[in-house]
Order: sequence, then C-alpha cells, then structure tokens
Amino acid sequence: MISYGRQSIGDDDVRAVVSTLMSDFITQGPKVTEFETALANYCGAFHCAVASNGTAALHLAYLAAGICKDDEVIVTPNTFVATTNMILACGAKPVFCDIRSDTYNIDEGKIEELITKNTRAIVVVDFAGQPCNLDRIREIANKHKLVFIEDACHALGADYKGRKVGGLADFTIFSFHPVKGITTGEGGAILTNNKDAYEKMCLIRSHGVVKDENGFNIMTEFGFNYRLTDIQCALGLSQLKKLDRFITKRHAVVQAYERELGNFDKIILPKTTDEVRSAWHLYVIRVKDREKRLPLHHHLRSKGILTNLHYPAVYNNPYYRKNGFGDVALANMDLYAETAITIPCYPDLPIEQIKFICNEICSFYN
Ligand SMILES: *Cc1c(COP(=O)(O)O)cnc(C)c1O
Repeated sequence: MISYGRQSIGDDDVRAVVSTLMSDFITQGPKVTEFETALANYCGAFHCAVASNGTAALHLAYLAAGICKDDEVIVTPNTFVATTNMILACGAKPVFCDIRSDTYNIDEGKIEELITKNTRAIVVVDFAGQPCNLDRIREIANKHKLVFIEDACHALGADYKGRKVGGLADFTIFSFHPVKGITTGEGGAILTNNKDAYEKMCLIRSHGVVKDENGFNIMTEFGFNYRLTDIQCALGLSQLKKLDRFITKRHAVVQAYERELGNFDKIILPKTTDEVRSAWHLYVIRVKDREKRLPLHHHLRSKGILTNLHYPAVYNNPYYRKNGFGDVALANMDLYAETAITIPCYPDLPIEQIKFICNEICSFYN
C-alpha cells in the first residue's frame, strides 16, 4: 500500500529519543525549550510555544488572540476540521470565505465583504504547503484591526517572498503529526512575535497554574494540559535538522510528477505562484471531468495507491450541516471538492512508485 503521506525516521531520530528517555527528564525538561528555540530561530519568530498537537496549538492561539463567544472568524473551508472546530470551541462562529481556483487558498479578494462589527480574526491555511497571499491579508487585518492567524500545519519550512512562514502572521500554527513536514508522533507549535500572547499560551497550556512565592500551585487562568513531552521534543529537534532535506526531496517528487503527467490532458496539476516556495505537504491533482473523480480514486485504491480528498468543504460535514451551516455554498470550493484527488507525496517516495502511480492514472483513462 502506498499512503498519501508518511514520516521519515532515521537512526539519528531513534538515538535522540532513546537518549532523552534515559535522561532525568522525560517531560518538561530541557528539550522542550531547546525545540522551541530551534523552531523560533528557524522561522525567524521571537517566540514559540509547543503543544500536544496542532489542534491544541490552534486552540491556544485562538484563546490568546481573544477569540470568544459570539465573535466571528473569517476562515477558509478548504481545511481539516480542526481549524474551524477550535473556533467553535471558543464559542465563536466560523464565517467561510471562498477559495482561489488556482492555489486553492483563501481568496483574499473576498475577505473584506465578510467583515462585520463582530469579526475578530482572519484564519488562513497555507494549503498543501503553499503560503497564502500573506502581504494582502496582513493589510486587510491591519486596516480592520483583526487578528491574523495562519494555520501553517502544511507549510513548515515554506517561503513567502524569501521569508520563512512562522514570523509573518500574528500567530502561526504548525502540526507534527506523522504526515506533516516533520514529526514528533503527535505535536504542534505556535509562533508569535507577541510576548504577552506567548506567555498567555504557556499559562493556558499548563492548566492556567503558576507557582506562588511559597512554590505552591495557584490557578490564575482557565487552562488545559496541552504540553508536549521532552521525548517528543528530542524527536522534533532531530527531525528539524533534516527539514530542508525533506523539502528538497518533496520538490523532487513534484518534479517527477510534472515530468510524467505534465502532458496528460485529462487532469490539472497543482500550481504555485512566483512569490512562494511551497513545502509540498500534499500533491493534489484535479480531474477535468468530475464524473471521473470517484472511479479514478477507486481504481488507484484497488492498485494499492491510497489516494484521499483534501478537503471536503468543512461546511459540508454532517455536523456542520446540522449546526447552523446547512445552506452554505461557495462556488470555487464546491467545484474543487468534486474534482480533487490527493496522490502520494512524501520525502522517501521512490521514483519507481511515482512512475507506477502515473501509469495507473493514465491507464485508468485509456
Ligand atoms: C494536521 C492539521 C491540523 C491538526 O493538527 P493535529 O496535529 O493533527 O492536531 C490542523 N490544521 C491543518 C490544516 C492540518 O493539516
């Protein structure tokens, strides 16, 4: 079976984990701060708080951003449900904005018409690893005094106009799930240049509890246990050293797909703009004839190629349909979700398997 994504774990990763496992701290020791510092430096941000997963990291960022009951948050529907679920967890309302038909990212030209007096934040997703139009979205956020949050769970290591994502929005969120750019098993992080927000996230991450002058725990904020362990941070540190190599290998996979499928006229290959260097978390092709999407998906699955759909529109999930989003429809998003298929893309995907996948796509049509 060829999965759409998978981790790359080496002996160096194993050694790093084992060495931490044998040390004095297996959680909340030196590896946590070391990993946070390394991530902040890599991305060019002032502060980094790691969290138990990307979803927890989103929740922490939203809480630190002050998103609360009855706020509206403008968000892309082309994302994993966690992005919007955590808006609901804050008691706020996701307001879905259509996507661009070229990059599948939020259409920055359609954001302003959705802003009301209740809008608190704009949440964008760097879909498939390609950064959004961050400069334009920053301008809109500043003009309307909104918090700018970038769910960059696909885009660790991606560049926007020569700068790494991570220091460009008010909050940038990463995930270290095994299919993402680097892994800690489960894990996540928030980068920010705002010291107060950073401190608030650290507090909420650990029950809202601080030490008083006697060393006793006192709770000053409502909080959770969203901590990441030293064992996981040791793995993250070891993985982060290899991130640039992983991305280079993902680019080689993409080039191979472009060579093999570039002249095949039944499908549309993904495009990136000149402003970005994508992290290529996902490789999403689109069928021109939407009737062919499911048959192609099942044909590839029958050959052991586990294609997927990233993403059905969030508002089309039964839960969202039943809870206030029953009649949302966005033209570009809906067409995209009927025609997209994610095919495998990860650093160690062998060239023979790429050729096999491409042959099976072409033979399905022939
Ligand atoms: C993976 C992902 C998340 C959630 O991250 P977890 O670490 O799985 O909780 C959120 N948003 C996007 C866009 C993702 O791809």
